[in-house]
Amino acid sequence: MEIVTRFAPSPTGYLHLGHAFSALTAWRQARAAGGRFLLRLEDIDPGRCRPAFAAAILEDLTWLGLDWDGVVRVQSAHLPEYRAVLDRLATRGLVYPCFCTRGDIAREVADSAAAPHGPDGSPLYPGTCRTLPDAVRAARLSAGAPHALRLDMARALATIREPLHYEEEGEGRVACDPARFGDAVLARKDAPASYHLCVTHDDAQQGVTLVTRGSDLRPATDLHRLLQALMGWKVPRYAHHALLTDAAGRRLAKRDQAATLRQMRAEGVTPAEIRARLSRAGPPSAAPV
Ligand code: GLU
Repeated sequence: MEIVTRFAPSPTGYLHLGHAFSALTAWRQARAAGGRFLLRLEDIDPGRCRPAFAAAILEDLTWLGLDWDGVVRVQSAHLPEYRAVLDRLATRGLVYPCFCTRGDIAREVADSAAAPHGPDGSPLYPGTCRTLPDAVRAARLSAGAPHALRLDMARALATIREPLHYEEEGEGRVACDPARFGDAVLARKDAPASYHLCVTHDDAQQGVTLVTRGSDLRPATDLHRLLQALMGWKVPRYAHHALLTDAAGRRLAKRDQAATLRQMRAEGVTPAEIRARLSRAGPPSAAPV
């Protein structure tokens, strides 16, 4: 089977060494196997993404010596496809509109004795809008009330026949527990589709066979696996790599100017030096760079 890998950054800042590590790992996996390496810009969040960062990503990857196959997929150009997925889930009664503000949710959670928490430590949505009377829901929708779309987790899980799992490189079969996410948001009030929906749709649509990404996204794979099962999408293998850290042991982030490829380039660091440094940092351990 042909190996298809991808690098899927969000243009919310300049690429840093951690991104370069992820991109190089996926690129090498594809090139070593005579497969394809794809580039996708995950720019569905209009509040955080900037065209200038998108352009900088292409430039920095090219400078680093990476090439990709086919055209760059830009998520904001595919909104009707995500809408179609949401419509299919809605037709099956698996999503519902949620009109709650953050404040509403915080109040509701504060009032309940033991609110369960999701993988990121935040309280799970208490389900307020899941049980709205039909007439109230219809009235709010027809009044144009802003709303998100949430997955009805219990209903979604009830449609799944077999326990969910995925294959992790070097580890084997990993069991999934998507219920930990509760009624996850699949479309936000201010963004037409969520990261979870778009990333899973696009990996399937683009025929990605190996998803290489940082271990910070590993918990999300449980939810992605559920979406794949609901939509009948092919399931890729996964390779979650350890995150690079700075000398103080902190994980690199877009706000760390020092580690951006731009800054390093301005300081005279060469692509060959970065590539050599990142080969030494290779997975599975998070080595300081
Ligand atoms: N767009 C995501 C990010 O920049 C990565 C998505 C993925 O690799 O699954 O964090």
